[in-house]
Amino acid sequence: MVFITSGIGTGVVFDGQIYRGKGGVAGEFGHMTIGSNAPIECAAGSKDCWEAFASERAAVARYMNLLEKQNGTGKITFSQLIDIALQGDEKAKIALKETAYSYESGYLTSYKVFHLKLLLYREILSGLGI
Ligand SMILES: [Zn+2]
Repeated sequence: MVFITSGIGTGVVFDGQIYRGKGGVAGEFGHMTIGSNAPIECAAGSKDCWEAFASERAAVARYMNLLEKQNGTGKITFSQLIDIALQGDEKAKIALKETAYSYESGYLTSYKVFHLKLLLYREILSGLGI
């Protein structure tokens, strides 16, 4: 399972049961390393994990970084970012594309390990043709 919102939560289900592992947090692929210098820190304070690269917060941060290069200010929600992209804003599309690539990178890695099945992918990217 993969759940994406402001973070990325994952879990592994074997024979209909959630596999929790010895410490109760097995299958937490959201914090696996997929790069360095992500646009945000994850909930655990890392800038190298899947969540830091591919969560909704990461997409918004990418967009804000693109705007700041042209003196953009303010804060928007992920839903607002989607609306802006749907209106044709190229920076919003770039932010979402980069986030989608990061999502794919982490997803493919976790898929290779456990063949995780995507159960929920929040809202949009497919609607944008990304
Ligand atoms: Zn993390």
